[in-house]
Amino acid sequence: MKDDELIHLRRCVELATEALEAGDEPFGSVLVGEDGTVLFEDRNRVGGGDHTRHPEFTIARWAAEHLSPGQRATATVYTSGEHCPMCSAAHGWVGLDRIVFVCSAQQLEGWLTEMGVPPAPVRFLPIPEIAPGVRVEGPVPELVDQVRALHRRFHQGAQRAQGRP
Ligand SMILES: [Zn+2]
Repeated sequence: MKDDELIHLRRCVELATEALEAGDEPFGSVLVGEDGTVLFEDRNRVGGGDHTRHPEFTIARWAAEHLSPGQRATATVYTSGEHCPMCSAAHGWVGLDRIVFVCSAQQLEGWLTEMGVPPAPVRFLPIPEIAPGVRVEGPVPELVDQVRALHRRFHQGAQRAQGRP
């Protein structure tokens, strides 16, 4: 992983930490243009009850509104966790290209199962199964443990709030 890409991924981990500190699930994503400029960034915002408010979905809609098809085709989305099927579809529909994720959907699913978190209402599927034309890179071992720790903090906090050990 190149240093400039690690900088964007570290920012994703920071945004995921911000989400966690706001009581939300720890996910963060950054949209970067062809020349390396950060165009847009967001974090998970499902805490209010709208579970479609994933940062990757927000990025896809922002890109559709603000970027030309050519700009979208050369942009990269960096993200703390691999896109869910909803976000992969949005990414594919708006013609964004490359994705770099820290942890894979399979890793996340394994961690959540280990922690006894009930299954999500939507299956985790690898991005290429939803958007086969998108170039995908990840997981990024340098940062996986940090992201795992954020998910552990989020779910163990939630379990304590419900009186579980
Ligand atoms: Zn998603």
